[in-house]
Amino acid sequence: MELTLWTYEGPPHVGAMRVATSMEGVHYVLHAPQGDTYADLLFTMIERRDQRPPVTYTTFQARDLGGDTAEMVKTSVRDAYERFQPQLMLVGESCTAELIQDQPGALAQSMGLPVPVVNLELPAYSKKENWGGSETLYHLVRTLLLSAALPPGTKRPEREPAIRPKANIIGPTALGFRCRDDIQEVLKLLGEIGVDANVIAPLGATPEDIKRIPDADFNICLYPEIAQTTCDWLKRNFAQPIVKTVPIGVGATRDFIAEIGEVAGIDVSRVLARSKSETLGNWNVSRVASSAIPGASRMPWYSRSVDSTYLTGKRVFIFGDATHAIAAARIATEELGFTLVGIGTYSRKFARQVREVAKQHGVEAVISDDYLAVETAVAEAAPELVLGTQMERHIAKRLGIPCAVISTPIHVQDVPARYSPQMGWEGANVIFDDWVHPLMMGLEEHLIGMFREDFEFAEGHMSHLHTAPSVEERTAEEAAEKATEEAKALAAPTDHDAAVKPMGSAPDAATAGGNWSPDGLAELKKIPFFVRGKVKRNTEKFASDRGITSITVDTLYEAKAAIGK
Ligand code: SF4
Repeated sequence: MELTLWTYEGPPHVGAMRVATSMEGVHYVLHAPQGDTYADLLFTMIERRDQRPPVTYTTFQARDLGGDTAEMVKTSVRDAYERFQPQLMLVGESCTAELIQDQPGALAQSMGLPVPVVNLELPAYSKKENWGGSETLYHLVRTLLLSAALPPGTKRPEREPAIRPKANIIGPTALGFRCRDDIQEVLKLLGEIGVDANVIAPLGATPEDIKRIPDADFNICLYPEIAQTTCDWLKRNFAQPIVKTVPIGVGATRDFIAEIGEVAGIDVSRVLARSKSETLGNWNVSRVASSAIPGASRMPWYSRSVDSTYLTGKRVFIFGDATHAIAAARIATEELGFTLVGIGTYSRKFARQVREVAKQHGVEAVISDDYLAVETAVAEAAPELVLGTQMERHIAKRLGIPCAVISTPIHVQDVPARYSPQMGWEGANVIFDDWVHPLMMGLEEHLIGMFREDFEFAEGHMSHLHTAPSVEERTAEEAAEKATEEAKALAAPTDHDAAVKPMGSAPDAATAGGNWSPDGLAELKKIPFFVRGKVKRNTEKFASDRGITSITVDTLYEAKAAIGK
C-alpha cells in the first residue's frame, strides 16, 4: 500500500485510451467496473475533444461478479464491432478487472472477428499511464507489421538521391503536452530541410497508415516515453534508423536538424546557418509581416537583450516527464542563463538520462512519483522559479514560488486555444514568454529590494501578476509586527513573520526555525524575498554545524562569507 493523494500518471489503461483516442478506425473494449467512464472526461473536458473516446466499457457491477463476467466481455466486443466497424480492436482490462482475471483480450481474439484484435496485458498494479501508452502503440504496430518484417540483418536499399527522404513522426498522442502544435512545428522543420512526413502516429493515424510505416527512411522518436519501444522494434525489424533528439529549445532544434541531416544523408548546413543568422528581434516590419520566417526564433535575441540580464543565475527547479525535464534543463542553463538547483522526473524508465543531467549540474536527481518527496526537494533547494507539472504548480503556489508548466500531468489551461508549441523555433518563443512571465520584472525586483516600506509594492508583490498581499495579509502583518514588539519587550523568542506569507515569499523565509536573535531576524528580512529562503537555510546550517545557539547579524554575515568562499 502507498498513501497517495496526487498521482503523476494514471493507470496504464489510460495510456491505452490515449493511443486509441489518438487514432481513427480503432476501437478499445475495456473490461472495467461501472464508474471507470470517468476517464472519458480527460478527453472531452481537458482536451476539449468534440467526440467521446472510441472506448466501450463492460461496466460490470457488484451483482455481476456472481455471474458470468466473461460473457459480458464477449457481448461488449461483439456489440462494439457491429456498431463502430473499426479496422482494429484493442481489448484490455482496468485495475479491478485485472483482479477477476477474465482475460478479455484472449477471449476477444478467440471470437473470430474479421479485423485484427490486439490483446493488451497492462499490469495496473506495477505500471503506469505512459508505459500503457507505449505498450499499446508497440503491440498495435507489431500486430499490423510483423508479417512484413524484414529477415534479420537485411539492409534498407539506398534511397535514390533525386527522391526526397521520408520520415515517420512517432509518439504524439491525445493528452500529450502540446502535441497538437508540436506536430505543426516539426512538419515545418522537415519542410525547411527537405524531408517529407510519411506517417504521424498514433495521433491522427489509421491502422492502414500504420501499415505504411516501413515506407519511410527513418523514424523520429518525438516523445520517447510513448515512442521508444516502437521505434526500437521498427529499427530491428525494418532497419529504420531513429532520430533521437527531441527539438525542444533552440540548441536542441539545431541538433535535431543536424541529426536528420546525418540519418537522411542530406545537406542541412544552409538551414543551420540560417537558423543562426535569423535570430534577431524581428522588428523589421516586412519580416514581422511574414510570420513564416524559416529558421528563426526570437528566443536567442530576447534572452541576449539587456532586459534579460537579471535572469542570469536565477535558481530554477525542474520536474516533469523525462523528455520535457531534460529539454527544460538545457534551455534553462544554456539559453536563458538560469542556474539549475534541482531536477527530477516521475518517468522511472528514463531515470538514468535525468541523473546524468543532474550530475552535470552538481545536483541530485529526484526520481519519484511521490509529490511529497518533490515538495520536500523544492523546499530544500529554495528556487526562484519552478518548472514542472500541474502538481508543481500547486507545490510552488503553497511555497510562494513562481512556476510555469512544462510537462504532463496538466490541467485544462495547458490545452490552450492559441498556437502554443514547445518544439522548434516557435516553441522556443512560447517557452521564453511562458517561463519569464511568472518572474518579477527586473525593475520591480530592483525597487522592492531598495525600498521595502512601500505601501503598494510590498515584499513579494508582482504588479504584473496582481499579486499584492491581500488586505488580510497586510493586517496580519501589522498585527504580527505589533506582537513581535511585545514579544521583544518580554524577551520572548521572536517569530514575527509566522503569520505573514505574501505571495512570492520564499519558503519559510523568516518563520520559526533556527534560533534567530531579533537583530539577526531583522537583517534576514532585508534580504530580497526570492533568495531569503536559501540564505536562511544556509545560515541555520552554518550555525548548527558550529553549535551557535543564537543567530545574530554577525552569524548571518559569517555564514555568507563562509559559503561565498
Ligand atoms: S479500476 Fe482502476 S481506474 Fe477504475 S476506479 Fe478502480 S482503481 Fe480507478
